[in-house]
Amino acid sequence: MKKGLLIVVSGPAGSGKGTVNSHLLATDDFRFSVSATTRAPRPGERDGINYFYITREEFEKRIENGDMLEYNFYCGNYYGTPREAVERVLAEGKNIILEIDVNGAKQVKEKYPDAVLIMLLPPTFAIQEARLRGRATEDEETIRKRLEQTKSEVPHFLEYDYVVYNYDGGADRAAGDILAIVRAEQLSAKRNPNTATHYFEK
Ligand code: 5GP
Repeated sequence: MKKGLLIVVSGPAGSGKGTVNSHLLATDDFRFSVSATTRAPRPGERDGINYFYITREEFEKRIENGDMLEYNFYCGNYYGTPREAVERVLAEGKNIILEIDVNGAKQVKEKYPDAVLIMLLPPTFAIQEARLRGRATEDEETIRKRLEQTKSEVPHFLEYDYVVYNYDGGADRAAGDILAIVRAEQLSAKRNPNTATHYFEK
């Protein structure tokens, strides 16, 4: 059976990651990695759906046990990808999407050089800022922090394999671009090393 693809999607707040990913999940070829975090749930977030909410002690124990595929400490909290779920999905031949930051993406690429790294961006920084202020779900301090994070993360785009833009109202186009990337990767020669053997098999 074919192994699934490990796909990392990083995008700043306002890039529409959630909307784009929900288009992909609807296809049944993808699973979504639920990260663990020590931060408190926001209103409306659910344990096991948005994140697994665990204590700092538990998180550190999992790091020590090697249960985290990657992790980062950000704004006073740990965030990380539970390893076991990712390995299980890949072994089932499904693609798995990790929605993580640039630091985590780098750790994934070191451990899984075959991972496909996609940076998802709003059309411009100015549009991102307008989107963040427009949705008014975050206070000014949080918006400022998100924009600062964007300034430090986007210059790392060359560590990624692909850049996809999410234009206003264009989440299905961005999802289509990601599907095209996944298809091309699945058809790549390097991912099909037994092509000649299979071709000449009687
Ligand atoms: P938030 O608190 O807004 O949900 O997430 C804060 C930041 O943590 C975002 O940049 C998000 O991409 C990142 N993040 C969420 N889950 C993970 C994870 O499992 N690993 C890493 N490295 N970053 C994560």
